[in-house]
Amino acid sequence: MKTIDLRSDTVTKPSKAMLQAMFEAQVGDDVFGDDPTINALEEKVAQLFGKEAALFCSSGTQTNQIAIKVHTQPGDELICDRTAHIYNYEGGGIAFNSGVQARYVFGDKGRFTADEVLQNINDDNVHFPRTSLVCIENTVNKGGGSIWSWAQMQAIRTVCDEKKLPLHLDGARLFNALVETKISTQQIGNLFDSVSICLSKGLGCPVGSLLIGDKNFIYKARRIRKVLGGGMRQAGFLAAAGIFALDNHIERLKDDHRRTKQLQSLLQPLSFVEEMIPAETNLLIFKLKKEFSTQKFIQHFAEKNIIIVSAGLQTIRFALHLDIDDNDLQRVGEALKSFA
Ligand SMILES: *Cc1c(COP(=O)(O)O)cnc(C)c1O
Repeated sequence: MKTIDLRSDTVTKPSKAMLQAMFEAQVGDDVFGDDPTINALEEKVAQLFGKEAALFCSSGTQTNQIAIKVHTQPGDELICDRTAHIYNYEGGGIAFNSGVQARYVFGDKGRFTADEVLQNINDDNVHFPRTSLVCIENTVNKGGGSIWSWAQMQAIRTVCDEKKLPLHLDGARLFNALVETKISTQQIGNLFDSVSICLSKGLGCPVGSLLIGDKNFIYKARRIRKVLGGGMRQAGFLAAAGIFALDNHIERLKDDHRRTKQLQSLLQPLSFVEEMIPAETNLLIFKLKKEFSTQKFIQHFAEKNIIIVSAGLQTIRFALHLDIDDNDLQRVGEALKSFA
């Protein structure tokens, strides 16, 4: 029986076609700038977003952390949401790598307002940390895959322009947001000073993220990547997977979203569900009522060869992805109905 893994959208394995593209990649030493496939991926992504340059990195943590390092100085403060990945899940990297502290705001499922940003920008005064960066996340991981609207993002940009602050986008799941809205990659490139995208999430690559920005920003980012030990050599095999994914795996994200909504409908009437964050993309976060054990719930699924994990107190997260099809969804539905 196939193992169904709903722990994360990072668990996907490369398809035959993706492996074939990787197998055929031309490679070279990328620290010398010699890897034609990495160069092609960086150019492709820069063009896609209408930006000057891009940098291929090992992970979304690395692209975010490099961006923070380039945009800030030690002792500075950045503004992000309380739920932000950069704040919660990057090992304290904001402090560790950049000597910066996070000033967090309390948005709605990770989406905060321009006013909240304004209220948290420090005046120029020796007592206060210098506010030097604003970071948003789209879709919001801890927000259950919530999407920022264009108006919400644009309002933040306006404040950043007024206050001369750079704006970074953690777009680990950006394409999940874009396929559900009419917002284009060009518009995103235009709105943000720097953008991080992940190939290893919904796009189904084994490894890789890109940091996108203007030439000067990426020049500095390339130096920081090297300092962090992130200079890779014949990594064009990985970049080939990225090119394949960008060409083939974006539109199909809608299938993941459709399946997530189907799961949501299945869960809605079930007696053990306390509450659920309305599904917007490929993540479904819900709470079990107090009298139900999360451990037993996870065990019940494990017995059916379905792997799930807890995402906090009484909380479960299902992540849909490219290796889950309609048959798998049916099995998950049956497991849900037979619990309790
Ligand atoms: C997964 C993720 C990242 C990056 O994670 P890596 O595992 O380091 O690639 C960054 N931001 C968000 C919102 C994420 O979900």
